[in-house]
Amino acid sequence: MGKDSFDLFGAPEAPKAVPVMVPLPVPKPYTYMVPEGMHVQPGSIVQVPLGPRQVFGVVWQEQVAEAIDPKKLKSITTVFDCPPLAGEMRDFLDWTASYTLSPPGLVARMSLRAPTAFEPEPMVEGLRLTEERPERMTEARARVIATAEDGPAWTRSGLAHAAGVTSSVIDGLTKQGVFEPVFLSPPPIAAEPDPDYIAPSLEPDQQAAADELVAAVKADTFGVTLIDGVTGSGKTEVYFEAVAETLRQGKQVLILLPEIALTPAFLERFQDRFGAKPAEWHSDLAPRKRERTWRQVTEGQLRVVAGARSALFLPFENLGLIIIDEEHDPAYKQEDRVFYNARDMAVVRGRIGDFPVVLVSATPSIESRVNADQGRYAKVHLRSRFGGAALPDLHLVDMRRFPPARGGFLSSVMIKGIQKTVERGEQALLFLNRRGYAPLTLCRVCGHRFQCPNCSAWLVEHRFRNVLQCHHCGHTEKSPDACPECGTLDHLASCGPGVERIAEEVEKTFPDARTIVLSSDLAGGVKRLRLELEAIAKGEADIVIGTQLVAKGHNFPNMTLVGIVDADLGLSNGDPRAAERTFQLLSQVTGRAGRSGLKSSGLIQTYQPGHPVMQAIVSGDPEAFYEREIVERERALMPPFGRLASVIVSADTRADAETHARGLRQAAPSVSGISVLGPAEAPLALVRGRHRFRLLVHGRRGADMQGFVRTMIASGPKERGTVQVQLDIDPQSF
Ligand code: ADP
Ligand code: ZN
Repeated sequence: MGKDSFDLFGAPEAPKAVPVMVPLPVPKPYTYMVPEGMHVQPGSIVQVPLGPRQVFGVVWQEQVAEAIDPKKLKSITTVFDCPPLAGEMRDFLDWTASYTLSPPGLVARMSLRAPTAFEPEPMVEGLRLTEERPERMTEARARVIATAEDGPAWTRSGLAHAAGVTSSVIDGLTKQGVFEPVFLSPPPIAAEPDPDYIAPSLEPDQQAAADELVAAVKADTFGVTLIDGVTGSGKTEVYFEAVAETLRQGKQVLILLPEIALTPAFLERFQDRFGAKPAEWHSDLAPRKRERTWRQVTEGQLRVVAGARSALFLPFENLGLIIIDEEHDPAYKQEDRVFYNARDMAVVRGRIGDFPVVLVSATPSIESRVNADQGRYAKVHLRSRFGGAALPDLHLVDMRRFPPARGGFLSSVMIKGIQKTVERGEQALLFLNRRGYAPLTLCRVCGHRFQCPNCSAWLVEHRFRNVLQCHHCGHTEKSPDACPECGTLDHLASCGPGVERIAEEVEKTFPDARTIVLSSDLAGGVKRLRLELEAIAKGEADIVIGTQLVAKGHNFPNMTLVGIVDADLGLSNGDPRAAERTFQLLSQVTGRAGRSGLKSSGLIQTYQPGHPVMQAIVSGDPEAFYEREIVERERALMPPFGRLASVIVSADTRADAETHARGLRQAAPSVSGISVLGPAEAPLALVRGRHRFRLLVHGRRGADMQGFVRTMIASGPKERGTVQVQLDIDPQSF
């Protein structure tokens, strides 16, 4: 062998090169030398030079496949002292990257944190009991010593708390040598949940469902179970049994929830069952807490994480179960950078890790329903509410027969319903999935409509803040007095309602009632929303007006009327999933009523009372809806009976976007069973000043969509100038 060629994989002394995945939009790992004396293994988290910078990365495999001249390679700078990223996790990230057609480095980034999270956590100061005893023994001092004997070492405040004394008692004892200072590992973010803390007694159908889940956990292998149960049937209690069994096996559990930041009640419920809260994971966590949580999950110290979709990418040390609550929820789909559906990817994560996955919903997605019907998923059914609580009595309010008063949006039927509810001292919820005051403002003189300068969207009036705002790019302007087109003063009309406008109508109609408006526009963010939700649960409001934020997972015991202001809102947007979404949303919102056993009802305002979705909702027979919807999807070869991929081309000019999209279309290979629709202007043709065109790829079930799209992109025009291409496999709306 010549001097310049090394046998990379030969003798142990030979210099070794390894592929390192850096968390950047790169197509594959880069190769680095391992300096002599450094020990790395697959999954090691390392620091490497990249251009002029130092970045962190993950050793992706044992060795590089092809021989590269080591002289041309740079070396790894350092190895972090933290657990390596497990092979299972690297396989999952690779799989996700190739399924979603995303750069693997970007996908890997979702699993990692800032390098400070890789550093061992700093030790904290603690105290240890010595042989020394105080000269004067008081009752408090005796209690502290007795408490301290129960553990090897304590933090000052932890011991004071456990013994029920002030810290000064402990300081006094320390001065006398009864305690000596020691350094301790920092305590975990959350205490260890105890699977046998307080097991509930389950009702027979709950028990049967729980038995099935527990059996799945005991089988210790991959499998998916769908829990399909009406709202309030006690699904959470049932899947907690699967959580308990997984904990008994010493494994970690991930519970995904669509709005974890807004459902602190969930954490409390978990604590009631397991004696400790789960760790939280969502975008509102403080950075330091995120880092600590990440670190402790990788070390296996945190046994249960309750998180938003991004928690799926946490590198668990020993994951044994994933629960996806409200599996149908659109919040599981990320449509930014890496386009993925956490529900679908969770199933893949379970398959790669060979552990069970549980999907939970009162209104399963058509995809999951079909998977269960066709036997790919096991299914358990809970047909009635827990404790004999009745589901709300649902009625359609035909708005053609009961039109609202002039300038209003609530029919007399709705107003009467609210009035009776408030008189009984119970709560009413009015649901409208639209933020702000009015979705459109126009000039009554010249017809000018206020549009976003950057997007093909109307500006939404927000009266509380006195602004017009675009909900796509955030563009905000002060609410005008005059029309910018014709200059006429005071002739601007607010068209249509948002929640703020409904609140105005409610306050006018019920001046004595206490109302709360709940939408993401509330000043004060998540903290404020949590407070408002607590206030509602405590009965501090009579009438709540809210967007879909109120629909998710909350338990308002005194809420007995749910009013849907505009049930038709989501139906007419041309999206083939519109019926499914509307059905799910309306079921979920009306399901907020009557959860504590009080008699309850739902009033659904619609101009289309004959629509199959409306009929399915009031008939109380969801099966009718599913059967019909599944037949239609199958006939149209729509998911899950066919496959879709969306290719969005955007550019600063309309012409550039269109030309590029046409180029891609021409580059599409000819494959039987796969066809391309478009290019056409995307449903939102202009967003943030970028013009968008869309190609929709349709394939038969089992078609290689990724291969097709990859070929099309590779042989199509290169992305130049401001052109950008986004790929969305299995788009949510199409
Ligand atoms: P779902 O998730 O199906 O909507 P939940 O799990 O929230 O339903 O249960 C509805 C209510 O019934 C909750 O208040 C819950 O505490 C209560 N509940 C359910 N099962 C039991 C049980 N076995 N014992 C006591 N309370 C229960
Ligand atoms: Zn805009």
